[in-house]
Amino acid sequence: MDLEQLKQSYSTCTKCPALCGSRSQVVFGSGNPQAEVLFIGEAPGANEDKQGIPFCGMSGKVLNELLASVGLSREDIFITNTILCRPENNRNPAKDEVENCRERLDQLISIMQPKEIVTIGNFATERILGKKGITTLRGKLFEFAGRKIVPVIHPANYLYSGRNPEMFAQMKSDFEVIASIIKTENKIINKQKKLGEF
Ligand code: URA
Repeated sequence: MDLEQLKQSYSTCTKCPALCGSRSQVVFGSGNPQAEVLFIGEAPGANEDKQGIPFCGMSGKVLNELLASVGLSREDIFITNTILCRPENNRNPAKDEVENCRERLDQLISIMQPKEIVTIGNFATERILGKKGITTLRGKLFEFAGRKIVPVIHPANYLYSGRNPEMFAQMKSDFEVIASIIKTENKIINKQKKLGEF
């Protein structure tokens, strides 16, 4: 199965009665399907539900700024969410909704085989690492199932803080960690190519 087939198979998903009753559409993901970095957010918001693209509202603007600060853009990454459908009134995803979307996210990871996963905020971090507490986990590098995982603060937290400059500085430094992993991975790949290991 490829990413497009996975997307198709979830386009009419009815596993979560509350979500599929209120959503406008399933927001599968966007970006470069060949990307080595997969970003995972929490859940689509109102803009995402309308446009069908993750992080296309205010949080997305902050995300784009952070990517640009380390020379990356949305074309360098693929981005999806812990759950694919918008919870009404932007409530938190329920436990069973995260569980209902578990197989889909596992399938996406297994198709994409990203070298690095960036978990945005508490929900994605707990889903991937089984750990809570983004303020202590942020910017740290974890290894899980052979992949590098970096949790980061959710841009919505920064917006709720009234754009706290200290928080933004922390977020920028976490994105330096993300970019340095990509650079190191690429160096290893180039070295292996030179040695004829590919
Ligand atoms: N917040 C998220 O976690 N995901 C989105 O797609 C948009 C905002």
